[in-house]
Amino acid sequence: MSYPWLREPWLQVVNSAQQQRLAHAYYMQHAPQRGSEQFLLTLAQFILCRQPAKSACGQCKSCLLFKAGTHPDLWQIEAGEGTRIGIDQVRQLQQQATQTANQGGARVAIIRPADKLTEQAANAILKILEEPPEDLFWLLAVEQAAHLLPTLKSRLQWINLQLPALASDDEQDAQAASLLSALRGEALVPVMKNKDQAEAWLNITEQLLEDLLKSSQRIAAQYYHFSGLQEQYRQLNQQQHVNQRLLSQAVAECRHLRQKFHYSKGLNLPLLLSLNWQQWATYVFSSGLDAENTQCFL
Ligand SMILES: [Zn+2]
Repeated sequence: MSYPWLREPWLQVVNSAQQQRLAHAYYMQHAPQRGSEQFLLTLAQFILCRQPAKSACGQCKSCLLFKAGTHPDLWQIEAGEGTRIGIDQVRQLQQQATQTANQGGARVAIIRPADKLTEQAANAILKILEEPPEDLFWLLAVEQAAHLLPTLKSRLQWINLQLPALASDDEQDAQAASLLSALRGEALVPVMKNKDQAEAWLNITEQLLEDLLKSSQRIAAQYYHFSGLQEQYRQLNQQQHVNQRLLSQAVAECRHLRQKFHYSKGLNLPLLLSLNWQQWATYVFSSGLDAENTQCFL
């Protein structure tokens, strides 16, 4: 899984499966940008796989059908934009599910987001779960667990995906502002405790440098990543000559660093990024030096 926080919940599910203790119905947070979709589908494939180990084998007939998107024992109900999931959709699924499995193995029903179930539809699922057909597994993704019918919720087992909180716009602006002060020598550079944190700071750095470049080119603030910082950008441009060539080199270096890290996770990203910050603080943000004559830019 490419989302580190999903590793722990995944191991727990695999552990239950290995002890033959998978629940008939699970629910989890619906947060596609943070990996919930990958988790849901990986779990569905795992349940359907005919020879799973710590994950689906990827090679059995079931896995091949799954990857082709044509598995006959996988059903998905999805709410359209602004619509709810009605009882007809659940009944239709129930009808198909009561037939024997096409592949002779497990069957999986996915509902997303389950907040969109009407009360009737939720009650219909509840009824099925009271006497669950053997080898039929339900996976429900919810935007807000509070929206689920409590009686239905009591039949479901929660999978805690341990999703990290999304930073709000204000928080992101504040992080970028602290980095800008550090690069200008007015504050200490942020502390990075691990590679995940360094990766997040690398993104902020790149966006900040791009913003500065745009601001020095008098591009409108609506195109900035951190629009809350436009006044600081403007002041910086007034107070000192911002070297556009060095700024775009720094942006390129950020992308290069991200690429290197992508291919080699062993890279000491916190160290490399802090070295880059030092360089940029000296050559991009220090007006006292003749930046054009420096050769030691990375
Ligand atoms: Zn398989």
